[in-house]
Amino acid sequence: MNTDLVIIGAGAAGLFAACEAADAGLKAVLLERRHRAGLKLLMCGNNRCNLSHVGTADELLRAYGSPVRDFLAPAIRALPPSDLQRWFQSRLGLRTKILGNRIYPYSEKGDDVLHAFLDHLRDRDFPIAYSAPAEEVQRLDDGFLVRTPNFHLETRSLLLTIGGFSYPRTGSVGDGERFGKMLGVPFEEARAGLVGLELPPRHPLSQLSGSTDVQEVIVTVPSLPPVAGNLLVENGVLRGAAVFDLTRLAARHRLDDYSLSIDFFPHESLPQLERRLKAMLARTGSPRTAINALGLPPMVAEALAEDGVATAGQLKEYRPGKLYPRPLKEAIVTIGGFARSAFDPETMECHQLPGLHAAGEVLDIDGPTGGYNLHAAFATAQLAIRHLAGRTSRKGAAPEPRRRDDRPASRQGDPRKSAWGKHFWDGKRPTR
Ligand SMILES: Cc1cc2nc3c(=O)[nH]c(=O)nc-3n(C[C@H](O)[C@H](O)[C@H](O)COP(=O)(O)OP(=O)(O)OC[C@H]3O[C@@H](n4cnc5c(N)ncnc54)[C@H](O)[C@@H]3O)c2cc1C
Repeated sequence: MNTDLVIIGAGAAGLFAACEAADAGLKAVLLERRHRAGLKLLMCGNNRCNLSHVGTADELLRAYGSPVRDFLAPAIRALPPSDLQRWFQSRLGLRTKILGNRIYPYSEKGDDVLHAFLDHLRDRDFPIAYSAPAEEVQRLDDGFLVRTPNFHLETRSLLLTIGGFSYPRTGSVGDGERFGKMLGVPFEEARAGLVGLELPPRHPLSQLSGSTDVQEVIVTVPSLPPVAGNLLVENGVLRGAAVFDLTRLAARHRLDDYSLSIDFFPHESLPQLERRLKAMLARTGSPRTAINALGLPPMVAEALAEDGVATAGQLKEYRPGKLYPRPLKEAIVTIGGFARSAFDPETMECHQLPGLHAAGEVLDIDGPTGGYNLHAAFATAQLAIRHLAGRTSRKGAAPEPRRRDDRPASRQGDPRKSAWGKHFWDGKRPTR
């Protein structure tokens, strides 16, 4: 065996897992397909990186909803948002802040999150191989074989943090499905979640140039609960939290009919809106100006008026026609992945293949917009490493993590400070 643990995929889950593994003193190596780590992490939250969402573990779990909630419960309870904030502060020295219930790095820069992870790993000489796509994974009698184009590794345990299918340029190309076949792990079909909906080509809203934001709407499709959030009209595509969260629910329920209705004034009753619209129409004489005066952006008001909207009822139940989801490669999150039933939610270990663990989006887990997906990646990664380090709650309380500066004074600043990573590639064992 070359090592005790190979982590495949240096995205959110893999980087978090690597930091935990480094701090637990695990003999581990991280492989990454791309020439650098965390490419999707850098895109998160429009480069501001919405790390998590404010709330108790139970509140978060309610937001994930069924069927993901039960599987995620042990991970989220072990790492609720307040503990995640403390983790970033105490382990990585990264301050966080809260903006409208969302948790961001204090600088609001995804770059700083990535650097904090990589600094932590560099300080511990944790081995990371870039441009090292795992092409084949194979079960051995006492572990796993991982092949890349240039080398192979034999490892006692394997942690797959290879993400989903979306934004494949970031390196998440959907290898989970292939690895699932190689290892015999069931894989749930991948679908687009948190994705835009395309308007019919000649729809008045699709003529809008640039991007127009409507602060709060409620969108509804038959047989799903209504979803609230902002609505973004952008190049003929509806986006924003309301649409994204709705598409996640629809994908989970395998719906493909997106005949949705939009309530543009969710905080007003129909009679209230009728009174206001009547007054505005009397004053302005034009539906376009009246709808704009009610509070919708001028371009949206114009498009709605052009589409024949002239009553409060139409504004509270606007039907843009048949919409089509944009492709999976454009989705914020992949619905589907390794079947949850194949993994122990307390340890993230595969029932059939002891030693095989998975964390993050490669699993069939997902959350709404607002930091839930990164949180799930971090929390599942932590649980996996705690188990691998023999520290699950079943086996006893986790020991205090080693913090950034609490190496023995004699070894602080010592380039040979890491347990073993520095000597990984020349095959030498470390001297402790
Ligand atoms: C535009 C965008 C914005 C988003 N914003 C947010 C946000 O603000 N908040 C939030 O919570 N979520 C957000 N998400 C979702 C979030 O980014 C993902 O859910 C999260 O990154 C999943 O983490 P992961 O580590 O499981 O996978 P990834 O981050 O996708 O990482 C997987 C890694 O594995 C590597 N890899 C894949 N296959 C192999 C292989 N065979 N060998 C070696 N390496 C491999 C990939 O190159 C990649 O680096 C956003 C997603 C997108 C696309």
